[in-house]
Amino acid sequence: MINITNFSEADKVCKEWGVECNFAFLGNGSCSDGFDREIWMDLDEFITKREFYSTMCHELAHIWCFDNDKYIDYHHYICDGDYVLKYGLKIERYVDKIAADIFADYFPKMKYKPCYESKEDVEWFYKWVEKAYGEKK
Ligand SMILES: [Zn+2]
Repeated sequence: MINITNFSEADKVCKEWGVECNFAFLGNGSCSDGFDREIWMDLDEFITKREFYSTMCHELAHIWCFDNDKYIDYHHYICDGDYVLKYGLKIERYVDKIAADIFADYFPKMKYKPCYESKEDVEWFYKWVEKAYGEKK
């Protein structure tokens, strides 16, 4: 679980982006919504500040993609499970690259931790796809 109790830094960064930052114990991962310009930070997920702010920048990078028409189907939620299985991980890793730049701007003393790098991250992703889009084909 997260070990920070002061979210004013997160609020400040998100405000600059015109994004509402919500915090909750979701238990199924952080997420973003470009249409509503909000992100949801799953407080069950983090141990360190670095992890927390990395994920926050990852979610902001999704908003950036939404604003810049990158992978429109994915960010406008008009793709199906097959599309997500095929391209989802590639898109998430693209988002991680954008997120690393955002992170470097706001937190130059820390190093961005990619959200989709480890074997566990990849397994989590496919479990999430199965849950969100039904049985894996
Ligand atoms: Zn993502």
